[in-house]
Amino acid sequence: MKRKQVIRLFKKMAKELGLENVKIRIVPMKSKVASISFKTRTLRLNRNAVKVLNEEQLKFVILHELIHIKVKDANHGSLFLKELRKRYSEEEIEQIELGIIEAFIKEKISNSKFHSQST
Ligand SMILES: [Zn+2]
Repeated sequence: MKRKQVIRLFKKMAKELGLENVKIRIVPMKSKVASISFKTRTLRLNRNAVKVLNEEQLKFVILHELIHIKVKDANHGSLFLKELRKRYSEEEIEQIELGIIEAFIKEKISNSKFHSQST
């Protein structure tokens, strides 16, 4: 996807979740697909992810990170899972996450962690 499209997608998802004052930065990252900062309400998205993931996968990554901000939880607690499961079934989650890992392996980008947060 193009950078512009990713930013548009981000804005759309943020609006859907009722989130204001959230920002996105597309940056080079070594080993993560994305990360978030609760303090600055900023989602950092790996530049390579933009390159190798398709729209559905990017949407999932962005939504995943935005839900962390929405529920104010860095972990995957019950509130987090409730929000995610409003939009995806268990099977879909599994399938999309697998696809993301596969896309990264294909591109030989190290992907030891799906993502992480800083507070
Ligand atoms: Zn997460």
